[in-house]
Amino acid sequence: TAAATEEPIVPPVQVNYTQLLIDGQFVDSASGKTFPTFDPRTGEVIANVAEGETEDVNRAVSAARKAFDEGPWPKMTAYERSRILLRCADLVEKHSDELAALETWNCGKPYEQSAKAELPMFVRLFHYYAGWADKIHGLTVPADGPYHVQTLHEPIGVAGQIIPWNFPLIMFAWKVGPALACGNTIVLKTAEQTPLTALYVAKLFQEAGLPPGVLNIISGFGPTAGAAIASHMDVDKVAFRGSTDTGKIVLELAAKSNLKPVTLELGGKSPFIVCEDADVDKAVELAHFALFFNQGQCCCAGSRTYVHERVYDEFIEKAKARAMRRVVGDPFKKGVEQGPQIDPEQFDKVLRYIRYGIESNATLECGGERLGSKGFYVQPTVFSNVQDDMLIAKDEIFGPVQTILKFNDLDDVIKRANTTRYGLAAGVFTKNLNTANTLSRALRAGTVWVNCFDVFDAAIPFGGYKMSGIGREKGIYSLNNYLQVKGIVTPLKNP
Ligand code: ADP
Repeated sequence: TAAATEEPIVPPVQVNYTQLLIDGQFVDSASGKTFPTFDPRTGEVIANVAEGETEDVNRAVSAARKAFDEGPWPKMTAYERSRILLRCADLVEKHSDELAALETWNCGKPYEQSAKAELPMFVRLFHYYAGWADKIHGLTVPADGPYHVQTLHEPIGVAGQIIPWNFPLIMFAWKVGPALACGNTIVLKTAEQTPLTALYVAKLFQEAGLPPGVLNIISGFGPTAGAAIASHMDVDKVAFRGSTDTGKIVLELAAKSNLKPVTLELGGKSPFIVCEDADVDKAVELAHFALFFNQGQCCCAGSRTYVHERVYDEFIEKAKARAMRRVVGDPFKKGVEQGPQIDPEQFDKVLRYIRYGIESNATLECGGERLGSKGFYVQPTVFSNVQDDMLIAKDEIFGPVQTILKFNDLDDVIKRANTTRYGLAAGVFTKNLNTANTLSRALRAGTVWVNCFDVFDAAIPFGGYKMSGIGREKGIYSLNNYLQVKGIVTPLKNP
């Protein structure tokens, strides 16, 4: 592994935007407060950003309300909106390198991942939703009686959006893209750990012609700014992404205020099932990616690796060797596969779960400790002999910790894979089409990846069964989150 203790590379980017974006203007918070945002490679402060609280959320909601009620955004032709969204995407594409650097600096993911995967994915998603903007239409309905009946699909209004820190730009895109395509206005709160890239992108969106007040960005904390959005009487819809516990709070705040509809994208403990016919080398590589991608900080991480007993021993040996080869270090360095965890809380939590694993007598095959003495790096860790009732097999660890369980029968693994409160995703690795079909249908999860994992195309829906969430993002399905249907009834013969 690359040494995480070497001096970190200076990122090729500056921090230009640290204020709140309200009504098209960068402004300080009403209280004048700021909070530091950190470099996870060192724990050092990158910048101080304005801290939004209730009063700032109120101002942002007023601006969004005005931009919705008075226009021009929802009143523009859909084609004009589409053109603006395309320009937004193009400007982001033009500034991809700086944005990728800022993303990596603020959340520690490999620069190559930011630049080659996430920025292109962001741009593609806005192109995709720009394409939808002028293809949203209602129906004419054959009612009983002499009526002309039609449905209008209208934007909901002011959308409140609360996003997490693991994919700051991608989460922004999944929420903002469909909301804007449908003609809504937005108050978005970034995660307190990662406020920087959304501000930069929102600035580019203003330059691209997005009218003032359509997209407002609040940096700040959950219990203050986040809760103010979720409980605001003038926010018409809230979309949240984060932990299941916080999702419950958001749903409650929405219910206690104005019953705004809520979509939730929450935690997961996704099974990755390696069947007896698997090519073990390929299965190891994919299972490794499914868990370790993004420092293991994915809600859909394949975090319960079920391996058939026939290939189990070989799989363990190779999974361990693969984890030990994983290149961990400064995410700005070429070839680095894994950077630091996001912050001290997550870092401590991951190490705590590793201890639980050891205490519960799972076999620690490799890793298990922090890497270096600076920043929040964790060794790629593999546990074998994991049992379903161990904490490391039940809770979301959100770190580079692979837990491997043995199975011997398809019905048995289906039952075990489904015995979880979560249902976000699942992975299946097999050459047998019947096995693939059986598992895809039996697994209670919003996404089943067969012989692939983490394919996040803009058109593919994503979301959770059970306590992994409510609603779907991306694809055509996300439009439903940001539209409401109006039935219009007119007698055929009018007075
Ligand atoms: P994580 O544990 O992954 O940081 P959280 O669910 O705490 O996940 O955070 C996800 C997002 O939810 C962040 O933007 C955070 O600020 C926000 N958040 C946290 N607590 C609340 C709350 N009580 N109300 C609204 N939003 C919140």
